[in-house]
Amino acid sequence: MAEEEKEEMKSFKDLGLCEELVEACDSLGWKNPTKIQVEAIPHALEGKDLIGLAQTGSGKTGAFALPILHALLESHSKQGYKSAPVFFALVLSPTRELAIQIAEQFEALGSGISLKCAVLVGGVDIMQQQIALGKRPHIIVGTPGRLVDHLTNTKGFSLRMLKYLVLDEADRLLNEDFEKALDDILNVIPRDRHTYLFSATMTKKVKKLQRACLRNPVKIEAASKYSTVDTLKQQYRFIPAKYKDCYLVNILTEMSGCTSMVFTRTCDATRLLAFILRNLNIRAIPISGQMTQAKRLGALNKFKSGECNVLVCTDVASRGLDIPSVDMVINYDIPTNSKVRLHPSCG
Ligand code: AMP
Repeated sequence: MAEEEKEEMKSFKDLGLCEELVEACDSLGWKNPTKIQVEAIPHALEGKDLIGLAQTGSGKTGAFALPILHALLESHSKQGYKSAPVFFALVLSPTRELAIQIAEQFEALGSGISLKCAVLVGGVDIMQQQIALGKRPHIIVGTPGRLVDHLTNTKGFSLRMLKYLVLDEADRLLNEDFEKALDDILNVIPRDRHTYLFSATMTKKVKKLQRACLRNPVKIEAASKYSTVDTLKQQYRFIPAKYKDCYLVNILTEMSGCTSMVFTRTCDATRLLAFILRNLNIRAIPISGQMTQAKRLGALNKFKSGECNVLVCTDVASRGLDIPSVDMVINYDIPTNSKVRLHPSCG
């Protein structure tokens, strides 16, 4: 490493984070902050709103979680333990899996400070989530629909005292499915709050949302630490449609030592393809929006742990998932949106 690079390298302490959090990063093995963390955290600690253009893999969860936890600890020490603020921050995510991953990072960073976190996503028993809310968590991570459900139906749950709102993957949160729920949420949370908006792309809708719900935000842009563009090898196979399955099997067999994601257009196709591949002794597992949450998580864990090395998926698995190593992505069907299936760790 060049001498000047070494000098420039900041530590979490340099960013102004309190001792408990510096230790938490250390115990997670995070030696130095990533680019987005270096750029976002000092502004966040000054109380500014943020817009971060960053993808999964860049360390963006830490970039918003650490300043929130810092503020939580500060207000905690000001007010004494008994009055530690509950429902302090809300993080909204477009997918259930991403919400769970975000909550896991909060819990890992907050394990030394008795942090309580609740995950409110669809496909999971609502009663259990109500019990989790009854424990008065500090942080809530959820998908918009289920969150509105709780705001309407869960007694004693309100976000009137909320201090931080995070919109993660905002470009995807802004599609029509979420529009109404997002409006409902913005209407019941205090205007006087901090807002962080993270998005992989800056679309017109994101700009509109930014104007509507952020105050004088600082804009930060950080490429993923995996920096895909230079190393990503892209190829296409021009083949007769009726031999598509044979070609797929051939490629997956040739690349049997690799981890692969195979994208299909429909949920049925994920099941059928995975079934065919498994019968040919390829360790494939399907994941799609039609599966129960428990099954989706199970499939993801099998892929992450290496038990299965081919994940056959619809767009539900295409972005925002923290899958650290994927060697190959196959677009078995042509994606409806050209950017949606680029995985940041492909290289
Ligand atoms: P994210 O972009 O937030 O989804 O994070 C991607 C991965 O990077 C997660 O597995 C984090 O645990 C990890 N990570 C985040 N910040 C750091 C850091 N400063 N050093 C090392 N790993 C990190």
